[in-house]
Amino acid sequence: MSDPLYSGPEPTKLTIHQTDSPKDLLPPDQLKFGRSFTDHILCATWDANKGWSAPSIEPYKALSLDPAAAVFHYAFCCFEGMKAYKDSKGNMRLFRPEKNIRRLNTSAVRIALPAFDEDKVLKLLAEFTKTESRWIPEGRGFALYLRPTMIGTEPDLSVSRPQSALLYIIGSPVGNYFGSSGMKAISLEACSSPVRAWPGGVGDKKVGGNYAPTIVAQESAGTRGFQQVLWLLGDPQVPEQQYMTEVGTMNLFVAWINPETQTKELVTAPLDGTILPGITRDSILDLAQERLVPQGWHVAERRVYMTELKKASQEGRLLEVFGAGTALIVNPIRSISWNGEVIDCGLKEGQEVGEITITMKTWIEDIQYGEVEHSWSVVI
Ligand SMILES: *Cc1c(COP(=O)(O)O)cnc(C)c1O
Repeated sequence: MSDPLYSGPEPTKLTIHQTDSPKDLLPPDQLKFGRSFTDHILCATWDANKGWSAPSIEPYKALSLDPAAAVFHYAFCCFEGMKAYKDSKGNMRLFRPEKNIRRLNTSAVRIALPAFDEDKVLKLLAEFTKTESRWIPEGRGFALYLRPTMIGTEPDLSVSRPQSALLYIIGSPVGNYFGSSGMKAISLEACSSPVRAWPGGVGDKKVGGNYAPTIVAQESAGTRGFQQVLWLLGDPQVPEQQYMTEVGTMNLFVAWINPETQTKELVTAPLDGTILPGITRDSILDLAQERLVPQGWHVAERRVYMTELKKASQEGRLLEVFGAGTALIVNPIRSISWNGEVIDCGLKEGQEVGEITITMKTWIEDIQYGEVEHSWSVVI
């Protein structure tokens, strides 16, 4: 971007102030997602007159913000979720990081926060990761979760473009979500009201305002014994019109035998504006094209209606259903409660994960941990 207001933050101006009281690392088996943080924070501020400030890496700290700051009132907030990995040789790696940084820029611009130079923020992200190197736990399933975030900081209660903003990056070491017990298939409750996203909305952006409104529905499904909500769109009064979008904060994949072609097909919802364009989703689609299509599979981005899913299950054509996202890579799904019945998603009794689901996880992890060299995994 040539506009000097949006041409930073400048990595050549980065200052690093190392903490003089480094924290103790938690034992890897005690890591809980998003609960403990590293020693430092990377910050860069933006001002409508001066553009991006020189970035800094400083000891981790609380932020000091005016109570009238735009973020607190009108949800001027967007973020990313990505991971840094340590490979068996001790190298630090990021997985398709340019995609996260691009998505952050897209989210920011959608909610009137400033754009930034993606190559520069990518360099800063790498610098931050290197600074926090000792916080990247070793071993498959372990990683340093990185949370680049941007907020509007201007104290101004008028509903307007914030004239100041803060971009920051924090890191949280994460362990193996499923622990030593291996993967666990989850059961879903399909939900047609409330909806997570809607045509013309911001469901395709990682903006903070998308998440708080999902918690009550999530909790309510939890009281009935379901681990996640399957977000539907389509008239809540008309079951035949309801189609699947995402599961919790994951994209959704269905592996089935297509009734028309009678071939195996891996399907996910198209990026129609209501779907978060997941990097895991994109990676699965690419790998499926490359490695499953030669084995006779078809890959499709299209709507799947609940009636189609139910019919496939009844006819024994539903092979596997899984969620996909950075946190778990894949999350196998056992059943979906919808419209007063339970749709069986194809796992056998006692089976926690299907073949395609686990294969995708293995393929992606092999790349993330540098077991297989691939352009998606960037050594920093
Ligand atoms: C972050 C997110 C995803 C997954 O995206 P990844 O880039 O694969 O981590 C999917 N759906 C929603 C709603 C999300 O917020």
